[in-house]
Amino acid sequence: MGRGVGWGMNLLLYGAPGSGKGTQANMLRARFGIPHIATGDMLRAEIQAGTELGRKAQPILAAGQYVSDDIMIGIIRNRLRRPDCEPGFIIDGFPRTVPQANALDTLMVELRKRFDCVIYLKVEVDELLRRLSGRLVCPQCQRTFPPGTRACTADGSELAQREDDKPEAVRPRIEIYLEKTVPVLDHYRASGLVSEIDGRGTIEEISSQVLVAVNGRSSSSPRSGEVARSAGGTGTAGGAGKKTA
Ligand SMILES: [Zn+2]
Repeated sequence: MGRGVGWGMNLLLYGAPGSGKGTQANMLRARFGIPHIATGDMLRAEIQAGTELGRKAQPILAAGQYVSDDIMIGIIRNRLRRPDCEPGFIIDGFPRTVPQANALDTLMVELRKRFDCVIYLKVEVDELLRRLSGRLVCPQCQRTFPPGTRACTADGSELAQREDDKPEAVRPRIEIYLEKTVPVLDHYRASGLVSEIDGRGTIEEISSQVLVAVNGRSSSSPRSGEVARSAGGTGTAGGAGKKTA
C-alpha cells in the first residue's frame, strides 16, 4: 500500500463506443484536477508529433486495430511517472484484455500505485447503436464527433462517416467490445474495484452517480470542498475535443 503518497484518485474508465465515456472523463478531470489518460489520444499525439512510435502506430490505428501491449505499457509507464499523476489519473481505453490488465497490475506495483475504482458505464446495445449511427470521424486525426458537427475541432478537416460506423458494421463492433470487456471487468471485480453505472439518463444524472461511486471508493480522498484545483472553463462540447499536448 502506498504510504506517504497522500490521497490518490486512480481510476479506470470503461464504456463501449457511444456510452458517454468521454463526457464523464472530462467531468472527472475538471472535478478532481487529475489528468485523463486516453490511450487513443496519446497515440494520436505521437502521430502528430511524427515520432518513431507515431509512424509505426499510424497505419495500425487507421486500420482500426490496436498497437502491441508492450508499446502501450511503455507509453502508460512514461505518462504515469509524470508529476501531474501524483494526485491521481483516469486511464481510458486500456486495458482491453486480461493479459493487458496483468501487465498494468505489474506496472502499478512497480510505480507503487494502486487503483481506487474501476468505473463501467453500462448502456444497452440498441441504445449504443442509436447513438453511434451518424457519428462522424476526421480523416486526418481519427477523432470522432457527434452527428451534425461541421468540421474537426482540432484541425478543421471536413468530417466523414466511416464505413465501419454504419449500423450494420457497428453492431458486431459493439458486441466484440462487450465480449472482450467482460473478462477484464471480472479481473477487477475480483479485487472489489468495479462500480457499474447506468449509462442512460442525462449527463448530470450519470455524472452524479459516477461521483458517488468514486467518492465511496477512494477512502483517502479529500471531501469535495477541499479540492483546490478546478479545471473549469475548458470547452467540453460533445466530449470529443479533448486536447493533448
Ligand atoms: Zn482532425
